[in-house]
Amino acid sequence: MKIATSLIAALFLASAATAVMPDDPAKIDTCTKPGQVALTFDDGPGLYNDQLLALLAKKNVKATFFVLGSMVAANAQQAGALKKILAGGHQLASHTYSHGNLDKMTEDAMRLEISKTSDIMFQHAGVRPAYMRAPEGNCAAVCTKVMESLGLVISHWNVDTNDWRFTTLAPAAATEKSMEEINKVIIQGSNPATDSSILLEHEIHKFSVDLLAERVIDAITAKGYKFVTMEECVGKPAYLTGSVVPPVVPPTTNTTTTGAVVPPTGSVVAPSGSATIGSPQSTASGTGAIVPTITTGNKGTNSAGLVRAGAWAMGVAAAVGFAML
Ligand SMILES: [Zn+2]
Repeated sequence: MKIATSLIAALFLASAATAVMPDDPAKIDTCTKPGQVALTFDDGPGLYNDQLLALLAKKNVKATFFVLGSMVAANAQQAGALKKILAGGHQLASHTYSHGNLDKMTEDAMRLEISKTSDIMFQHAGVRPAYMRAPEGNCAAVCTKVMESLGLVISHWNVDTNDWRFTTLAPAAATEKSMEEINKVIIQGSNPATDSSILLEHEIHKFSVDLLAERVIDAITAKGYKFVTMEECVGKPAYLTGSVVPPVVPPTTNTTTTGAVVPPTGSVVAPSGSATIGSPQSTASGTGAIVPTITTGNKGTNSAGLVRAGAWAMGVAAAVGFAML
């Protein structure tokens, strides 16, 4: 738990910068159909995930969770959260591994952020997300090119609760401040007949789960919007699944896979290399051109990576802990 606390502290500090709003049509910030609102929760899975899932179930709202690989790795409770999220009918998506600034990374480092997160999500939930959100929205031209080459939907937002700004306030006051943006942009400034939204919250802040989430849901429901997952909002599959494996997959030359090649969920074959970006055999040629990499549901091949990822996360957490002192 100390690790998770340190990570959350790091995320809070990392969030204390101006978010970058989309300037590129590749970065999705609205839904395809009016009347839809995609409720999204970033930076988890966190300590309040169970509570949030219970609220969403009570409200019959499906949401999308942009999780961090480092948070999944931090401890078993958070890793178990991924299956609970899926069981609740929600969507899992990637918020990278370390919550670093992608625009300050090399292309290889960007790919590693995605592949490590994809691997650990596959380990714990059997899915590889097709949607990603860049930490703080930082994904300029090079990042956009890389993410698109991996077949990922770059998921921005057009409504921000700014909950991370208000964590030092009393919970009720913080909730009111966050609702100001909701009231301004959605309740007063939009029309479900013509508008749609992707709405950003963070599940790691207690007041966001205790108070804000229900207020947001009730207000937006009363306005006449329908809550949807990012998949339904954007209209592209949530996961890199067998259903989107390109037809050029050679059926008879599969010599790299052995043993259990049937994915446990039937939905974890990586079609575009995005699930195995760190892997040298995964290559994408040109934009949109997909060279399929046939990875399988063989969890054994990923276990070493998981251990490394966990050790890495602990190292980061330890470093952050010292920095906080
Ligand atoms: Zn974040």
